[in-house]
Amino acid sequence: MLAHSLVKRSDTDAPTTRVEPRRGGVKFLLLHHGTCAGGAFHFRIADDGEVHAELDESERGQHPRSIGIVVDGDFETEAPSEVQMAALRTLLLELKLRYPESELGAHRQVRGATKTTCPGKRFPMKALAEWSHNGLLRERDEVLRRDFESQYSQI
Ligand SMILES: [Zn+2]
Repeated sequence: MLAHSLVKRSDTDAPTTRVEPRRGGVKFLLLHHGTCAGGAFHFRIADDGEVHAELDESERGQHPRSIGIVVDGDFETEAPSEVQMAALRTLLLELKLRYPESELGAHRQVRGATKTTCPGKRFPMKALAEWSHNGLLRERDEVLRRDFESQYSQI
């Protein structure tokens, strides 16, 4: 399955802060950039596009009912690389398959959050949101269809 091929769990940068279990289902897939302060994140996308799992999905990150994804870089001043965006889209597709009810959001959209521009002015949030409404759903349906057909052919 996708889930095991993509994500590498790293021992070296495991969080040292105490984590608590996440309560309730996953409602949001929240995006951050590398300069976001004070957060524990579920996934980190490194400069080279490698995806690292930093928290278990059952644990609570910076926000409740959310899976937090941080993309390394300061996107106030620069845009993320295409290799990072490609890795992010693959990860979002994978998460959308696991949490069909979840919605994509930027940290700055969280109601009641400390005022922030996270994930930064140069992060292409609008383009990514449009993709999540069109391309992501198409790709998800394609994966579901392939899974269905591969099961069917094994009977
Ligand atoms: Zn943030």
